[in-house]
Amino acid sequence: MNPLIEKIKEVEKPALKLDPGTEQRDAYRREVTRYSEDFLHRLNSDNAYNGNNDKTIINSLEVSETGKPLPQLLEIFEKAVEKPGINAASQGHLGYIPGGGLYPAALADYLAAVTNKYAGIYFGSPGAVLIENKMLDWLKEIMQFPKEATGHLSSGGSIATLTAITAARDAHAVTGAAAEKAVIYSSTQAHHCLHKAIRIAGLSPAIHREIPTDSQHKLPPDILEVQIKKDKQNGLQPFLVVSSAGTTDTGAVDDLDAVSNIAQTYGLHHHVDAAYGGFFILVDSLKSRLKGIEKADSITIDPHKGMFLPYGIGAVLIKDTLSTMKSHHYKANYMRDAYSDDVDLSPADLSPELTKHFRGLRMWLPLHLFGVQAFRSALEEKHLLALYFEEEMRNNGFETGGKPELSVVIFRYKGDLNEQRAATFNNELVRRIHLDGRVFLSATTINRQTWLRCAILSFRTHLSTIRQTVGIIKKLKKEIKAQNLE
Ligand SMILES: *Cc1c(COP(=O)(O)O)cnc(C)c1O
Repeated sequence: MNPLIEKIKEVEKPALKLDPGTEQRDAYRREVTRYSEDFLHRLNSDNAYNGNNDKTIINSLEVSETGKPLPQLLEIFEKAVEKPGINAASQGHLGYIPGGGLYPAALADYLAAVTNKYAGIYFGSPGAVLIENKMLDWLKEIMQFPKEATGHLSSGGSIATLTAITAARDAHAVTGAAAEKAVIYSSTQAHHCLHKAIRIAGLSPAIHREIPTDSQHKLPPDILEVQIKKDKQNGLQPFLVVSSAGTTDTGAVDDLDAVSNIAQTYGLHHHVDAAYGGFFILVDSLKSRLKGIEKADSITIDPHKGMFLPYGIGAVLIKDTLSTMKSHHYKANYMRDAYSDDVDLSPADLSPELTKHFRGLRMWLPLHLFGVQAFRSALEEKHLLALYFEEEMRNNGFETGGKPELSVVIFRYKGDLNEQRAATFNNELVRRIHLDGRVFLSATTINRQTWLRCAILSFRTHLSTIRQTVGIIKKLKKEIKAQNLE
């Protein structure tokens, strides 16, 4: 036999292990299904947070030459991955910005991985690209953006924001020496992904004016306008203003209409960070809070928050398609075939990614399976739960940031404590909530004061969880007070 053929046959045998047959696949799937069903049933009784990490488990994560059986690996997964830290699928996850992770999205990811369609370029998989673009069309529709606007499904809000900032940069030709005179405006409550995007986009030399928020934690439009005027008079080049449709810290929605008008008057690109709050536009009673978002030049919106999808899907919408393509479009010789008869814009021309996960499917499947109404109701429910929680906190002697605009409530215990003792009290409260673990809330610093946040955005969070949360907080408050008296 030809020695080359002999060698091929020799290595083919162990390589075949990578392609399991029907029976083996069945067995794998049963194991994984059993595990995930157990996990979902356990959610009701399991903690939302577990701070006791067993570090020794790391040793079991060593890569081996021959592999391990699946049940053993699932056991490792449970101990090393599922248990420690925040249980982000839990109804009790009320920290940061939760989402939950809709089950059909997992099935869509499964299909995306099994079929392994290439979602980067229309030529490669017209269907996958069409689904992605359909999802973007729907986002444009609900945000009242024109059909001609472009967009991209990204890994999250951070990359979405980077894409928008880069488009703004290129639309205003902010390069080289021009960057030093360029000015970017946001409030002090802007998400830190903006700072990252500015740096990555090479805009560090630009001036970033972080305008202090008003008493409602919002960007004050009048101060913004005065500052822009002043900067223009001084020969600077204001080109970008970033506002928030729901800040991460307090859930405050800026006056998007006023900021849009100012941006238009002075020729600035207006980017709205709606990563957290954007989907509340689906709720009739909240729609007016986002008024003016349709006049923005670009929007960040996170389906892994307001659409309850698993982590790994954000979106950016941008009106100026040309500038977006200027930043990202690229033709390589080895991709000659890829541009022959495209009828739709390809994600690869609109984002830093070439090869990407087929994210559209995990949004498409739940949206089509359940219909928009289910999402609308769930979002309204979260808002109403936040109103209820705020009321309960107030009735139990807590200071709050007022009625929540969307679904984040900030609160702290002040009583007649001075600021220093109040900080100690509230830090202790959040520490004990974490120790208890049944629900997870996070703390933040606002105006140098410690506040707790209750962020209600998991599709699994209903009235019972919020009642339980109120009960836990009341009990812990009492305990801390009792100990302080000793
Ligand atoms: C979550 C969030 C971001 C960042 O998005 P990622 O998906 O975490 O990258 C940006 N802005 C706001 C308001 C957010 O809530």
